[in-house]
Amino acid sequence: MTVGVGLTACFAEHVHMIVVDEKIDATCTEQGLTEGSHCAICGEVIVPQEIINPLGHSCVVDKGVDATCSEQGLTEGSHCAICGEVIVPQEIIPKENHKIWHQSLDSIYSMYCIECGYKSFPVIRISSDDAFSKEYVDAKVCVESGYNYYDFEDADCQIKIRGNGTATYDKKPYRLKFKKSK
Ligand SMILES: [Zn+2]
Ligand SMILES: [Zn+2]
Ligand SMILES: [Zn+2]
Repeated sequence: MTVGVGLTACFAEHVHMIVVDEKIDATCTEQGLTEGSHCAICGEVIVPQEIINPLGHSCVVDKGVDATCSEQGLTEGSHCAICGEVIVPQEIIPKENHKIWHQSLDSIYSMYCIECGYKSFPVIRISSDDAFSKEYVDAKVCVESGYNYYDFEDADCQIKIRGNGTATYDKKPYRLKFKKSK
């Protein structure tokens, strides 16, 4: 074919028109290329581009954090310092239970967590045969600080019902009168 021969002849005579092939940086996982060049007219490679191998992730350890009774914890993990990819994900460690302790101050018991100071209030149960009288009535009081720990159990007292969730009187605190014999 005369056309093909003609083109080849034309290429042979030209001065290369050099175009730079820009460098492509390698990433952690993708390869790159060095800077090179070729001729824009005939396509001949003047400076070949060379493959740059992937850099590989730069592992950084994400330290584990112990769970406490007030904060969740995390297991140890790792990520890449360059691209940020998570290599070993950190997992959440659930909060621990409060370490409730009893403290006696002036014979009044209070409960608090020895780790974080979280205060837990004792449960007070009052039982009476007459929940509707406006006068003092005989009642039993039980103060329970949790974990079946009783500060006192079924103490005799007298109670005057004031309005609350169940009684319809004015909303005032209960009034308790304890027998003095204790
Ligand atoms: Zn050329
Ligand atoms: Zn990376
Ligand atoms: Zn706590």
